[in-house]
Amino acid sequence: MPIETNNPSKKSWLEVAKNSDFPIQNIPFGVFLTRDDIITIGTRIGDYAIDLGALHQLGYFEGIPLTEDIFLQDTLNDFISDGKKTWRAVRIRISEIFDIENLSLQNNEAHKKVILFSMDEIEMKLPVQIGDYTDFYSSREHATNVGTMFRDPENALLPNWLHIPVGYHGRSSTIVPSGIPVRRPYGQTFPKGANNPVFGPSRLVDFELEMAFITTDANKMGETIAIDEAEDYIFGMVLFNDWSARDIQKWEYVPLGPFLAKNFASSISPWIVTMDALEPFRVDSPKQDPEPFHYLRQKGKNSFDINLEVSIAPEGQEETVVSKSNFKYMYWTMAQQLAHHTVNGCKVNSGDLMGSGTISGPTPDSYGSMLELSWQGTKPVKLKNQVTRKFIEDNDTVIMKGYCEKNGARIGFGEVVTKLLPAHHIES
Ligand code: MN
Repeated sequence: MPIETNNPSKKSWLEVAKNSDFPIQNIPFGVFLTRDDIITIGTRIGDYAIDLGALHQLGYFEGIPLTEDIFLQDTLNDFISDGKKTWRAVRIRISEIFDIENLSLQNNEAHKKVILFSMDEIEMKLPVQIGDYTDFYSSREHATNVGTMFRDPENALLPNWLHIPVGYHGRSSTIVPSGIPVRRPYGQTFPKGANNPVFGPSRLVDFELEMAFITTDANKMGETIAIDEAEDYIFGMVLFNDWSARDIQKWEYVPLGPFLAKNFASSISPWIVTMDALEPFRVDSPKQDPEPFHYLRQKGKNSFDINLEVSIAPEGQEETVVSKSNFKYMYWTMAQQLAHHTVNGCKVNSGDLMGSGTISGPTPDSYGSMLELSWQGTKPVKLKNQVTRKFIEDNDTVIMKGYCEKNGARIGFGEVVTKLLPAHHIES
């Protein structure tokens, strides 16, 4: 069933620039601080932030079963808990209110004054309180590149990789929204040629180009989520920069996997784009061979055509695009990740965040990390003005963008922009 909110000919009475990521067909959800320092749940059309708390108080959601304070909260968790029917009803209603044919709010200056904000007068916050964060490793190209560099080009993929959507449990406490700078971490490393481990600032700080999905509460402990239902429990997606310290990672990851190399920071884009908005951009995911176990088998188009781009801007300089990738390259789909995550009865909650893993494409200009782009530092990446980078340097800003485009219709995620600050000094 086509979703009316996605009709590409639909227009809003709010002005939307031609290449905006946020036309009326998008209607993402986020949390922001208003010009009066009030925190509220909102959506965005063009460069306008829309206060859903105010819309609700003024009666615009009449007929939709919502608690009075559902949008007057500092996270989306309770709204996400209300389930897909409610998300869809609210999104459809927003689409109607801002449709160019609808005059009710359009002609009400007093209401518009309390509902509408320009993007430059608000501050975006973390949209959900993230309970648990899981990171997958689902790009075949990325896993192959890393396996080739770190282990053995002949056996780059480990034997489990084509059977299991491999993942690990990360840490949610250090996930921050776009705009919040992160700091170069200290840690233990074992540099090439050294005889002993050393302690100091990481010298190989890297980005990971990922996307993440946010779940609703889906199952009780002991219950599984069937693959055919898995997408119904996904609220939406964000861009995700999963900062990594490659030198710390290399020394610490055996035998239990990533630890301090990964949990010092991860950055997300602040607007959650719903699965309903992404529906028109479905594409086939890569063919899976060998055929996965029954609980991971899917029919139909289960991936999404989302263009991804990473840029680096050294301090005081313009940015250079260093990678162009696409979410559709992921070998394992989000539904497979969620079905696998719960096949043992693991409980998933509202506001959990699942990272895709680094999304590398098939060509060297589509790799999703500096580790791969500079091939462990052996091929420096050229930026503008004769600047080169092997990894991320102090005061560099990393910018990730993502958008879908089809037949002239465009839905985007905006960006996640993060500056890397120099390490704080710690005595060894
Ligand atoms: Mn990661």
